[in-house]
This record gives sequence, C-alpha cells and structure tokens, in this order.
Amino acid sequence: MSLIQDKQLAEISINDLLIPSEKVAHVQLNNPLEHALLVLVKSGYSAVPVLDASYKLVGIIGKTVILNQILGLENFEIEKLSSMKVKEVLNRDIPTLTRENSLLDGLNAVIDHPFICLVDKEGYFDGILTRRAILKEIKKNIYVNSYKKH
Ligand code: AMP
Repeated sequence: MSLIQDKQLAEISINDLLIPSEKVAHVQLNNPLEHALLVLVKSGYSAVPVLDASYKLVGIIGKTVILNQILGLENFEIEKLSSMKVKEVLNRDIPTLTRENSLLDGLNAVIDHPFICLVDKEGYFDGILTRRAILKEIKKNIYVNSYKKH
C-alpha cells in the first residue's frame, strides 16, 4: 500500500521511511582511517555517518576522501591508514533532518546526497533517510495511479 496514495507528499513523515540508527553502520571520530575503510569496504557503502563518543552526529566519511588522503605523489601511503584518524578527514558540512520533517523535505535533500542523516533535538544520531527509500515510495505511487487509470 502506498503512503502517498492517502496523504500529500508534505504530510508523510520521514518517520515512516527512515533506517533506524541501530541498523546503520557508523564509525567514530577517534577510529583510525583503516577501521573506517574496512567498514566501508565490508559493508559496500560509499559513505557512513561519523559519531562522537556520546553518539552525537558529527559528519560523514566516504571511501573517496580516505583514498585521496593516503594518495601520495606516485603511490598510496598505506601507513597513513593507521596514523590518521577519522576526525582529521571527515566531512562535517552535511545537511541533517529530523523525524518530524516531511517526505518533501527529504526529497529536496536527497537531490544532492544519496542519504541524509537524521538527528534528534539534542543532536543525537537517529538514523538515515536514503534516496532509494524515497524513490521506492514515489514509484509505488506511480504504479498505483497508473493502475487506477487503466
Ligand atoms: P542505498 O540507497 O541503499 O544504495 O544507500 C545509499 C547510501 O546510503 C549508501 O551508499 C550508504 O552510504 C548509505 N547507507 C544506506 N544504508 C546504510 C546502512 N544500513 N548503514 C550505513 N550507511 C547506509
């Protein structure tokens, strides 16, 4: 059943579509880059959230930024993977949403990002909203509407 069928885009809450924090792979500020790269490669994700020791969201880290950091003039400086930490290279400049935002807010945010981090009022990490989840919801609605017409 499509959520959009019964509600306007702006009325659907992100709460209905989010991946909760306990199901999201993450790394912490003090982890070495090696750990972050392992999490990214093993999970197959291109980027994951970065949390502080109290589980507040700080930013995200992706494979590309790690590989760029360890890239020397002619080869990869592999030893940097253990000497450098996530806090030195993560991207802190990211948009965030809360569970109370609408699907329309989410749709706007995922135009430029494959996933958006969700936080609560105190900044604690609450989960993610993926472009895939939004597109799936919109696709369901397109099918329902085209079925109605035929
Ligand atoms: P998807 O839409 O499922 O392809 O996910 C897009 C991106 O969202 C992935 O490349 C990851 O960066 C992030 N992502 C999705 N699911 C998870 C998860 N369970 N844990 C961590 N990151 C995730």
